[in-house]
Amino acid sequence: SGRIGSMGELLVEFVCAEKDGRNLRASTYAGPFASGAPGIFIDQAARVGASTIFSGAVGDDAFGRVILDRFAAVGVSDALLKVAHGVPTGSAFVSYNSDGSRDFVFNIARSASARLPVGHAAVEALVSFGLDAFHISGSTLGDRKMATAALEICRALRSRGVAISFDPNVRKELLADPSYMDIVRALTDLAAFVLPSEEDAAVLFPGEAFEDFAPRLVAAGARCVVLKRGERGCIGMDAGGEVQSLGAHAVEVVDPTGAGDCFCATFVALSVAGNFPMREVLRRANAAGALAVGRLGPMEGNSSLSDIEAFLASRP
Ligand code: ATP
Repeated sequence: SGRIGSMGELLVEFVCAEKDGRNLRASTYAGPFASGAPGIFIDQAARVGASTIFSGAVGDDAFGRVILDRFAAVGVSDALLKVAHGVPTGSAFVSYNSDGSRDFVFNIARSASARLPVGHAAVEALVSFGLDAFHISGSTLGDRKMATAALEICRALRSRGVAISFDPNVRKELLADPSYMDIVRALTDLAAFVLPSEEDAAVLFPGEAFEDFAPRLVAAGARCVVLKRGERGCIGMDAGGEVQSLGAHAVEVVDPTGAGDCFCATFVALSVAGNFPMREVLRRANAAGALAVGRLGPMEGNSSLSDIEAFLASRP
């Protein structure tokens, strides 16, 4: 099986179990759950059988241990996991409104989250791990320091033969910041696996359909381009130009957080493992996304390959 790395923000998340977040009084929250989009990604990559490594930082506190314990349980290498002293582990509180939208309260800015190992030593540790692919989630690029580090690391890894995977996860509030968009575009161009959602594609490839932008990215060197379409499923193109489209599974949506990350992790891990053609990889990623929305909590809906196979076998 493949060897996969990622980097970025780590935090614990608390999820409000009541349905109207705009009306918060003393509500009941579930948590702390280990979270952060790249953390959800690496956990899922490990669950489907990849050997994994993650560059991230937590504080020296109980929340940090929740995250480290979760990574240890699925076997993520701790070679680039740092415990930063004097700063707390990042946290987020999420509530759901009756219209399905979410409200977030983040405590990340002054947390340990951005104190992750970067630079030359991190690149060498990642290369010596023998990576097949290294993934960046766009959520990480909202922090200027981490964004710059992510691009530097990806350039260095790519020049050493590592495939870059990129989920743009474009942050609407940063669209007007040219340095942010420069990094998003640079990573899109570097990536072997380009994995946008429909919202991302509308920003990055305005006015273009999948059939327009995917062949262009493949011609420029991408190995796979996949458009994540939420409750409409997904569509992918491989390096040979073959296109596969799948509808989403009909499931009850309990908590949409993490579906995209689980989808990407399953897709990249199974692609580099090389046991399946793209259509079969896409089927399993599509199932991982559906399983992720069915559970409350950011990583609680993550699934092993056998969970995924059982889910697919149970569906007509
Ligand atoms: P996120 O909200 O985690 O950032 P995203 O926008 O990157 O996600 P989505 O397209 O929402 O990605 O979800 C990724 C995949 O998960 C979809 O392509 C689909 O396979 C699956 N999925 C998402 N939502 C649903 C749903 N409501 N029902 C079934 N499958 C879903």
